[in-house]
Amino acid sequence: MFKFCMKVYGCQMNVYDADKISTDLLNRGWVESDEDEADSVIYVGCSIRDKAEHKVWSQLGRYSDRWDREHKPSVAVLGCIAQNVGKQMAERFPWVELIAGPRHIGMIPDALMEVVESRKKKFLMDEDQRLFLDLETAPLKRNNPWKAFLTIAHGCDNFCTYCIVPYVRGRFMSRPPEEILAEAETLVQDGVKEITLLGQNVNSYGTDFQNGYRFSDLLRDVSSIEGLRLLRFVTSHPKDFTEDIIEVMAQNAVICPGINLPIQSGSDRILKKMNRKYDLATYTATVDMIRKRFPDAGLTSDLIVGFPGETEEDFNDSLKALEKFRFDLVHTAAYSPREGTAAASMEEQLSEAEKKRRLNIINDLQSKIAFEINQQLVGNKYILLVDGKAPKGESLFQGRTPSDKVVLFDSDEESLGRFAEVEIIRAEHWCLHGKILRFLD
Ligand code: SF4
Repeated sequence: MFKFCMKVYGCQMNVYDADKISTDLLNRGWVESDEDEADSVIYVGCSIRDKAEHKVWSQLGRYSDRWDREHKPSVAVLGCIAQNVGKQMAERFPWVELIAGPRHIGMIPDALMEVVESRKKKFLMDEDQRLFLDLETAPLKRNNPWKAFLTIAHGCDNFCTYCIVPYVRGRFMSRPPEEILAEAETLVQDGVKEITLLGQNVNSYGTDFQNGYRFSDLLRDVSSIEGLRLLRFVTSHPKDFTEDIIEVMAQNAVICPGINLPIQSGSDRILKKMNRKYDLATYTATVDMIRKRFPDAGLTSDLIVGFPGETEEDFNDSLKALEKFRFDLVHTAAYSPREGTAAASMEEQLSEAEKKRRLNIINDLQSKIAFEINQQLVGNKYILLVDGKAPKGESLFQGRTPSDKVVLFDSDEESLGRFAEVEIIRAEHWCLHGKILRFLD
């Protein structure tokens, strides 16, 4: 029996992968432990932004004392971070003994066992970008008993010029619907009330099938599972957001009207340089289609400032886009070059100071817009799943509106996992405050 410690530095897809691996190891008789006692410390990490990568590098340096004393722990680095810089990590640190790319997840439990027993380094790199070796285990070991992630597609074929995903997560591949439905049913039987479908571009789901089964079919089928109360999905690519998705959402109240539609820039010139495959006019038409059917839909977005060659005029177009679309929330970032991508070698790279200046301006504007939108929600009532304790505040708990806004309210442990009607009493720019009116179950 071996002890393991799981550490996740990345996005929801990394959390999902880590939960699946933990579940499988526990089924095999492994035991979770503190890092100091673990035979195997497992890092699942993201390489899409360099922040997670830096954190993992700094964490990996900490094992030399225990290694000198006990020749432990055996460290595994998994996920797209492993695909990107895993070999360098294994060269630098003797305790990094297993490196595996995200498309080898199905081989991880056996490989961990092998490495911990043999103490020989093992590399499972994703050389065939179309191959995917899945781990057929539902993520039953999760931090949250009521909510679960479910990855529906792997990789991406879009090659946006700033993005490393196609290089580190491989080609786009939809999981078979039967597999997804079986996993969703297992999760619901395990007590899950809310599932979030994950993919780099969930709405491109099925475009690699020959039988015409698409994302809207999957939404309809998953949302029909008895006992599932809330179904969310993230992220959607604007170029593939078709009307059939909206139709299915409108017919089924389980599917939450919260949509993340990354715009990335408000300038057609920059969108073209980014290879985003849409322009502002088509993006506008998609937003209009969504809002016509769901006037109260939560619409969030992602936006990069300081892309190579972004002029003041391009940047002003992004500011105008925020004014025009009035997103509920925008994940903003200053452009950061990722080695191996087309944009990293483009000319006209902006200085860090200029990118920071633009980021501050865009954040100030979005903060103001989000606050105005949230203020209009004061007095509204929502049915929410009480899904956890708030990160701060002794008696504060939280849930999300169907449109995906975080609501904080006073409650107690007894309310966890229950549905409550909550009235909004106060707004901040990033969240709402409410009070529980009644419980529904
Ligand atoms: S669509 Fe573009 S930004 Fe999104 S994962 Fe694919 S390449 Fe990256």
